[in-house]
Amino acid sequence: MRFEELPTPCYVVDEELLEKNLKILRGVMDRTGAKIILAQKAFSMYSTYPLIRQYLSGTAASGLYEARLGYEEMGKENHVFSPAYREDEMDEIIHYCDHIIFNSFSQVEKYRDRVLSAGKKVGLRINPECSTQVGHEIYNPCAVGSRFGVTLEQFHPEDLEGISGFHFHTLCQQNSDDLATTLDAVEEKFGPWLAQMEWINFGGGHHITREDYDIPLLEDCIRRMQEKYGLEVYLEPGEAVALNAGYLVTTVLDTLQNGMDIAILDTSASCHMPDVLEMPYRPPLFDSGEPGEKAYTYRLGGPTCLSGDNIGDYSFDQPLKSGDRLVFGDMAIYSMVKNTTFNGMALPSIALKGKDGDCRIMHKFGYEDFKMRLT
Ligand SMILES: *Cc1c(COP(=O)(O)O)cnc(C)c1O
Repeated sequence: MRFEELPTPCYVVDEELLEKNLKILRGVMDRTGAKIILAQKAFSMYSTYPLIRQYLSGTAASGLYEARLGYEEMGKENHVFSPAYREDEMDEIIHYCDHIIFNSFSQVEKYRDRVLSAGKKVGLRINPECSTQVGHEIYNPCAVGSRFGVTLEQFHPEDLEGISGFHFHTLCQQNSDDLATTLDAVEEKFGPWLAQMEWINFGGGHHITREDYDIPLLEDCIRRMQEKYGLEVYLEPGEAVALNAGYLVTTVLDTLQNGMDIAILDTSASCHMPDVLEMPYRPPLFDSGEPGEKAYTYRLGGPTCLSGDNIGDYSFDQPLKSGDRLVFGDMAIYSMVKNTTFNGMALPSIALKGKDGDCRIMHKFGYEDFKMRLT
């Protein structure tokens, strides 16, 4: 069907835009020999994995279910990191994954032999204690008191037996200058042990497919670790894979007034784009402007009971009316993986826009999807 005919609310992933990102990532891999894997927590629309598989080296998981999804649907190299693994899940995780990355020496101690005897790699997440981001403290794994990664103070060089690589993840939507700064800290703190490792994983948060991203500097960073220490380099971006590759199509249900114009949409910030409230950020909206920029400004909100369920204030050339369709941009990532049915809200359908422009609804959700998670 045509884009204009899709039922709303609906997430639409655009194959052509996804492939544009994949080609950029593949270019980095081809020029440097680094391996790039998809961090599924940002984007797990597995019907696109056959396309992603042609470009990337595999998947990264946050735990058992993502590990299983990567194993079943991508079927390439599969890595997992968790702050702590459950005993009753470990055999299955080891079965699905190639690299199992631990967050402490006590976890390494507990599981190392099982991982190694299965022929899989043991990694250790290190914390270089180098904060390169300001503002979003909930997205800063190097914040004071962070539970992520072994700090130099807690590092035991005598317990490195069986550990073949280090992993760090410190960035969030950042450019390669911050990666270079982080690598300085990694070398300063953990440099003495890098040469005895086989691989290093730079984690995610690299906004490689963003217009202003400095790719040559990223490639310098990769070569620096390859040449100086003989390491195989992995990156596991989530955002960069599907950045700006999807939409959320919605319909205006009603308009009202309370000191300003308000429009109620058939989508909810809280349920369908939770990062708008959590990050927080203002999603791009096609054919709109900043408040006051165009003639008619509206606060766009969802149908839930949450007073703060507002997507933001946007302006339009014409007054909004019931039935108007609005299209939010950059809605492939951290959207469908995080949505909820709070207030009994229906989940948006998920559609794929093919390279020929034709849209296919891949999944429609209904009352049963709400009910089945309750009892
Ligand atoms: C979140 C996360 C990623 C992906 O981050 P993006 O910001 O989506 O690129 C990769 N690795 C780890 C360990 C993460 O926690």
